[in-house]
Amino acid sequence: MSPSSPPTSDVALTHPDRLYWPDEGVTKQALVDYYAEVWRFMAPFVVNRPLALLRLPDGIKGHQRFFQKHAWKGMNAHIEEITDPEDADGEKLLRIADFDGLVALVQSAVLEIHPWGATTDNWEKPDLITMDLDPGEDVAWSAVITAALELKARLEARGLAAFVKTSGGKGLHVVTPLAPKAGWAEVKDFARSLAESMSADAPDKYLATATKAKRGGHIYIDYLRNGRGNTAVAAYSTRARPGAPVSMPLHWQELNQEIGPAAFTLANVPQRLKAQRKDPWGDFFDAAVPLE
Ligand code: ATP
Ligand code: MN
Ligand code: MN
Repeated sequence: MSPSSPPTSDVALTHPDRLYWPDEGVTKQALVDYYAEVWRFMAPFVVNRPLALLRLPDGIKGHQRFFQKHAWKGMNAHIEEITDPEDADGEKLLRIADFDGLVALVQSAVLEIHPWGATTDNWEKPDLITMDLDPGEDVAWSAVITAALELKARLEARGLAAFVKTSGGKGLHVVTPLAPKAGWAEVKDFARSLAESMSADAPDKYLATATKAKRGGHIYIDYLRNGRGNTAVAAYSTRARPGAPVSMPLHWQELNQEIGPAAFTLANVPQRLKAQRKDPWGDFFDAAVPLE
């Protein structure tokens, strides 16, 4: 297999024609085909990480919606149950090792994949930080872009790299690769101090607390994705929202008015990946340094 040919899987799909996004005509099979196209870009962000999964057995218009971290009845064997070393007696967590695991997730109607910011090689030492920009009502998209660029500048001033992706929902995620060294408490403290310093310097624009009441007109800088056991949606994961949007890695120069938070979808991402000259996140893990 050449590195660019899509992977295949023997995991059995029942009802491949089942509609997951009925208005868009996106079936279970179409979701597998999408993930085959993005797999080589997505794999480092989903393989060997504890996962939280949003399962919608009847698709995005159905009534069942489970956000789950533990096994379910009939779960495919390519989804592995793992023991959290800090919770040896607790319910086991979930992980995938390869493309078969991802197809097994699709088979079970997982429409969003939310990994930890650490791998199971190094449970206690995160290898990425996710700063989640959540614009309140009435915030202009240009202000969200400005906030992301401001975060980038502050991260780079600390010697850290910064990458950006759409959330596939309403905002942007600024993601920093880390060489696993600092523990969860340090990483979360750092993320909080970053959010708080942005808010202290521009309180009319930024909030570092989740108080919904004040959010109108502000961008909430959600640093809480960075605690042990917290999650953020994976790069290239679809979202269980109308339009089948995807959380899409971008080049910083691409951030503009035309590319909104849900501009990239299951329908247009494979074409973009084939056409792109450079993977915007190709250097992600090469850019990792320890948080000092
Ligand atoms: P948006 O741009 O719309 O904010 P987002 O993915 O950043 O999209 P948020 O609401 O800001 O969404 O963040 C929610 C995050 O919290 C998710 O990414 C997920 O990892 C995590 N989460 C924790 N519990 C839940 C839950 N019950 N349902 C959905 N997400 C949850
Ligand atoms: Mn968000
Ligand atoms: Mn958030």
